Amino acid sequence: MSEINLLESVTTFLQRSHGHYINGASVAGQENEIFSIVNPASGEVIATVNQGGDTEVHQAMQAASAAFHGVWAQTSPLERGNCLNRLADLLQKNSEELAQLESVCSGKPIQLSRMLDVGASADYLRYFAGWSTKITGETLNVSLPSFKGEKYSAFTRREPIGVVVGIIPWNFSIMIAIWKLGAALACGCTIVLKPSEYTPLTMLRVAELAKEAGIPDSVINIVNGSGARVGSSLINHPQCAKVTFTGSVPTGMSVGKLAMEQGLKRTTLELGGKNAAAFLSDMTVEKIVDGILEAGYVYQGQICAAAERFYIPSVHMDAVLALLSERLSAMKIGSPLDESTEMGPLANKEHYEKILSMFETARQEGNEIVHGGYALEGAGFFVAPTVIRANRVEDTLMNEETFGPIGTFLSYDDEEELMTMMNATPFGLSASLWTNDMSKAMRMTSRIEAGMLWINMHTFVDPAVPFGGMKSSGMGREFGSAFIEHYTELKSVMMRY
Ligand code: NDP
Repeated sequence: MSEINLLESVTTFLQRSHGHYINGASVAGQENEIFSIVNPASGEVIATVNQGGDTEVHQAMQAASAAFHGVWAQTSPLERGNCLNRLADLLQKNSEELAQLESVCSGKPIQLSRMLDVGASADYLRYFAGWSTKITGETLNVSLPSFKGEKYSAFTRREPIGVVVGIIPWNFSIMIAIWKLGAALACGCTIVLKPSEYTPLTMLRVAELAKEAGIPDSVINIVNGSGARVGSSLINHPQCAKVTFTGSVPTGMSVGKLAMEQGLKRTTLELGGKNAAAFLSDMTVEKIVDGILEAGYVYQGQICAAAERFYIPSVHMDAVLALLSERLSAMKIGSPLDESTEMGPLANKEHYEKILSMFETARQEGNEIVHGGYALEGAGFFVAPTVIRANRVEDTLMNEETFGPIGTFLSYDDEEELMTMMNATPFGLSASLWTNDMSKAMRMTSRIEAGMLWINMHTFVDPAVPFGGMKSSGMGREFGSAFIEHYTELKSVMMRY
């Protein structure tokens, strides 16, 4: 094992006392309570953070509201885009520091942190920057009667919705926050972010870079603390106009309900699921296994869009499971700071315990553990990548999200049966279909109930392509031009002349 050395800026940052970021400055916070940040690769505490409360929530919301009506409203769309581009430049300039911080807090292999949490975040910011000057309405023809020669015209305007509250999960602490921040700022909104308690540090550093990028104070604010306390308090706050949430289905539902009860606050929910990957019989065993590894095992399976249900033609099943086990045995599991690591630890102790209990559930239900199914010895929250052969569509592992490195497999013989099995879930975030027969794939496309369907690929998202869930996997879409609808209100103006 050869780990990269942590930059001095990272160790210094970790040693600071952390709290919140409000009105362009770090704020220690008034609460006496602190919570610890644990490195999931070692189980050791690496930093502490002050728990936020109503005082910090109120300060942040007031600051964001003042900026929304003041400095940010007076900033031209072009300059808003320039701000996002300058922040993208600074993310890239400080790429290694941010990637290392992400890896020590979340257990993400360093190469992925560099590529996604920093590299892709910069790309997303640039994409949103381009939209800032292209948010437009329409002119409309009006057919009202004219008695004395009067005429009518109408147009629509897209107006920024107000202060956005962004609630972020632990799996991509920078990138998912950047999705929300970029969308909000491009549309003229200001934002208050609530990172996950497990990964509250990275965005504190990004907020400092945002100041350096010339984004006016109070346009971006961060309040750290528990979801139940800080998250709810932010949603309840009278200045909150919209909530954009990424996280689990149960929390998302309670967030959506609260936002509705608090005066129909606008809501975007990006939730979990139980995503399917289906391979048709024309695929070779090798291609199927390549696809499974791409779809299910990147970043320990802790990607909302990752596949967890795999449907394999009966004729290929045994060979696929044998080759997959062989490939997983060769996978390099280890420190997230080792550049050759392919799989790191699970992100936190609670999640690790949940995954161990899922192994137990599979055993109790008589599923075959083909590979893995156990914790790895030593410090940290490591488990073996796992392959489970289910018996029935109803088995728990075919229905409940694990959010871990567990693929559960069922074989099928009939493609009609396959369509039914793929859709037999209350969720609909993503799915993939793997075949060389594009005609068949196109016919199946309209039948698969998922907001994001990949053909011969899985997990990749792109800022140009709208992303979000059908059914219980969410409400609203991020990216593309679809995001604009969710961060603006449509105002119609009609006139007589
Ligand atoms: P959670 O739903 O537990 O938490 C998400 C965020 O919500 C955290 O910041 C959490 O704070 C906060 N929160 C918790 N309770 C409340 C509450 N009552 N009111 C307001 N906020 C609250 O999800 P995880 O962080 O465990 O993330 C994993 C889940 O996220 C998986 O189910 C995964 O599928 C989903 N996900 C979905 C994605 C998508 O785009 N569809 C992308 C990534 C993940 P705290 O951590 O402090 O409790």
